[in-house]
Amino acid sequence: MVSIDEMAVFCKKKGIVFLNSDIYGGISGFWDFGPLGVELKNNIKKELWKRFVQQRADVVGIDGATITNKKVWEASGHVSSFSDILMECKKCKKKHRGDTLVEDTTGKNVDGSTKDEILSLIKKHKIKCPDCGSELKTGKSFNLMFSTNVGAVEDDANKTYLRPETAQVIFTNFKSVQETSRLKLPFGIAQIGKAYRNEISPRDFLFRSREFEQFEIEYFTDPEKTKCVFLKEVKNMKVNILNSKDKFSVETIDGLIKNNTFKNEWHAYWNAIFYKWFLDFGIKKENIRLREHTKKELAHYASACFDIEYKFPFGWKEIHGNADRGTFDLDQHIKYSKKELTYFDEETKRKIVPYVSSEPSQGIERALLAFLFDAYNDDKKRGNVMLKLHPKLAPIKGAIFPLVRNKKALVNLAKEVYDELKMMFNCVYDSGGSIGRRYARADEMGIPYCITIDFDSIKKKDVTIRDRDTTKQVRVKIKHLKSNLEKFI
Ligand SMILES: [Zn+2]
Repeated sequence: MVSIDEMAVFCKKKGIVFLNSDIYGGISGFWDFGPLGVELKNNIKKELWKRFVQQRADVVGIDGATITNKKVWEASGHVSSFSDILMECKKCKKKHRGDTLVEDTTGKNVDGSTKDEILSLIKKHKIKCPDCGSELKTGKSFNLMFSTNVGAVEDDANKTYLRPETAQVIFTNFKSVQETSRLKLPFGIAQIGKAYRNEISPRDFLFRSREFEQFEIEYFTDPEKTKCVFLKEVKNMKVNILNSKDKFSVETIDGLIKNNTFKNEWHAYWNAIFYKWFLDFGIKKENIRLREHTKKELAHYASACFDIEYKFPFGWKEIHGNADRGTFDLDQHIKYSKKELTYFDEETKRKIVPYVSSEPSQGIERALLAFLFDAYNDDKKRGNVMLKLHPKLAPIKGAIFPLVRNKKALVNLAKEVYDELKMMFNCVYDSGGSIGRRYARADEMGIPYCITIDFDSIKKKDVTIRDRDTTKQVRVKIKHLKSNLEKFI
């Protein structure tokens, strides 16, 4: 497996990801997506949206603003408690996050630990500055939200924040969405969008950045109806799981409900279907697992939380989180806004504050990174990298090659094929260099199908399709090309 730094170099070389404002020396924690990266990212978002919003009768989407009234963040608790402890090096003056220092040294996750607990761990393990090895001193707590001012006057009254998550905008729109879409419990509201966190030490390429995209769903249920009506779809599905006692095993979803690891069927169901989504789009099953949060890690509002983790070269890391948030958020917004954010159940004539039994929270860049690592094959036999991305995620679906570039009839036919295919799939036309060189280039871009037009093509009206993964070639009639590709993609 390549390292995270090698992956960053590969991404730059291939036009997947660039460092933002690189010509000015860059800015830590911000990245730009290049021509291949934007396609890959859009495909990931499209497949998430298709499966979890459009193909479901019980989920609808919104697209909210990234700047909101600051009261949203007061109600959500982000203003008072969304912070990290800062440690400063006495010598090189570099600042480090307390929790990551402890995690790097001990390998243990310390989410949910108090400031004092983190400080005592730093003392206990005699943690020094990772850059120069000198003593560290305690800095202050540091809020991770980016603050800004709205309007011309810079004062406290018009101070607000760039959203650190997409979830709260779903809660603030809860009533309008429920009423306009005439939704009945259980239902979900989804959103994909940008979020910002002023990380003290962004690192590991796209893994911990300051601007990123999230796909979040708030799934609202009736607190008195805890049976998940879709459970049978995932009951027998097997998952790798590390439980809160640090014990690894392979279990069925049903087994995890029966042994009380999942206390809520809805929570089990939503964790399972996202886990399955990763498998369906090509993540190898040995590379992902569920991880149950320990009691200590749990945020005060969550009664349970699971992560989906991916085995990165820098260890098992969270690529997806799903908390059972109860009624915490709606209760807070009811309290702060004094609006009645409730749901009226026609059947029982009850006024309900819906219960969020699942909050799937998906970082788009983290998913992208996991897919890239899983797809990356340094193929020694071919002598080039082969990016084995799922055809639906692959940025470019087909490459059209005329066998030679100096035969007019051949080039014309190749261009004709390209012009037709590009209306349906994202394709490229490439006539530069030997066919072998062009195959290698296509492999590195993860293009699943290469279509070559040769001398026989003119007479027989057919082409060869070469499969990226097997390198097998088949000849198909040009008139069947579209339907053939459709079948694969
Ligand atoms: Zn230092």
